[in-house]
Amino acid sequence: MPRYHIWTVGCQMNEADSAKLAAGLHRLGWLETARPEEADLIVLNTCSVRQKAEDRAVSKLGLLRRLKAQRNGQLKIAVMGCMVPRQVGEHLQERFPFVDVFARPQAFADVLATVLPEDDLGGEFWPSTFPEPAGPTAYVPVVHGCNKFCTFCIVPYRRGRERSRPIAEVAHEVAVLAENGAREVTLLGQTVEAYGHDLSEHPSLADLFRAVHDTPGLERIRFLTSYPKDMTDAIIHSVGELPKVCEYFNIPVQSGDDDVLARMRRGYTLGEYRSVVEKIRRWVPGAAISTDVIVGFCGETEEQFRRTYDLLAELRFDKVHVAAYSPRPGTIASRTMTDDVPQSVKMQRLHAVEELQESIAAQINAGLVGSVQEVLIEGQKGGKLHGRARTNKIVHLSGRGKPGDTARVRIEKSSAWSLQGRQVANSAPRPEGR
Ligand code: SF4
Repeated sequence: MPRYHIWTVGCQMNEADSAKLAAGLHRLGWLETARPEEADLIVLNTCSVRQKAEDRAVSKLGLLRRLKAQRNGQLKIAVMGCMVPRQVGEHLQERFPFVDVFARPQAFADVLATVLPEDDLGGEFWPSTFPEPAGPTAYVPVVHGCNKFCTFCIVPYRRGRERSRPIAEVAHEVAVLAENGAREVTLLGQTVEAYGHDLSEHPSLADLFRAVHDTPGLERIRFLTSYPKDMTDAIIHSVGELPKVCEYFNIPVQSGDDDVLARMRRGYTLGEYRSVVEKIRRWVPGAAISTDVIVGFCGETEEQFRRTYDLLAELRFDKVHVAAYSPRPGTIASRTMTDDVPQSVKMQRLHAVEELQESIAAQINAGLVGSVQEVLIEGQKGGKLHGRARTNKIVHLSGRGKPGDTARVRIEKSSAWSLQGRQVANSAPRPEGR
């Protein structure tokens, strides 16, 4: 039987795409191998959001060039994902002539055409192909692409405009996943609250939550990534009201300065962002909120960075993903702005944010010691179970259980990164908040 190997870098959307491609290959009789040297097809599912991610793909391609030479052409190589532009120029092909196909995100048929040139799988093959859950949690893309065109971001150029999947199709996929053991699904979109705008009935993300909520076997629903401007009151209320929707929001703020936000073309002011956070904290008690921040964006002064720092100190997020700005060729910022913050200054700012956030997260998590959290067990390592609380915090626990079980855990210890505790008797009322 032919074998494939997929290497994935990047966001959850890429992970979901790789899982879907793998499901299609399985359906066609292919086997997965963890050893690239045994594979007949290797797919690199790439990310282009930061230079570092592209550099990793390029170094992997160096290895694959050598592997392909050793295999006398018996190996097919596909590069998929955000590194592949709409028009694959000669530049990519000249640089990597040993690559058999460059496929845009989700161009699964293009990947398969390298190994099954004769097969016409028909229009129903991919919509009816769902990945088997690899454990109790699974990702489900619900809206593809992005219409926002933030000046620093390459995603809309690579993933195209927002396209929502019909509610019935998502609900069917969630039902199949739950039947096959998934207890938690994360509904994915680059801006997940944009879900439904482009569909004829204009359903909202809250409608989608309701449509999948009562799926038998499903215990938890999460959603990623939130765009502040699309986060409506109705969506926030639905998170508070629907028992299976977890109290966790990832809402990137990117900067704490209105001028920088305008240059990033984020489409909201800090006042509007603060108001979303306030509503969440008012209407969804105990909710955890994480955010994303870019430091050293074009023209960011020390004072403007200070405002970001102060905002993080004020809003006290549970988690902050911080990145130093790196220009992405083709974006508005790379074409019209100057990347003028020295790398050393970017790194100082990045470390300042990391240090601040470590102390905030440690304090927030210390406040959870003594509380009882509902934890979905995801795995076991070194004799200890681990999983996540509804707030997405990692919990290490002692007790009995297996992946897929939900445990009530009394938190005994904490750090900035995780919680530790002991399982207590089940039959839980809802877990305690902060
Ligand atoms: S909202 Fe902005 S940062 Fe997010 S994917 Fe769209 S363009 Fe990129």
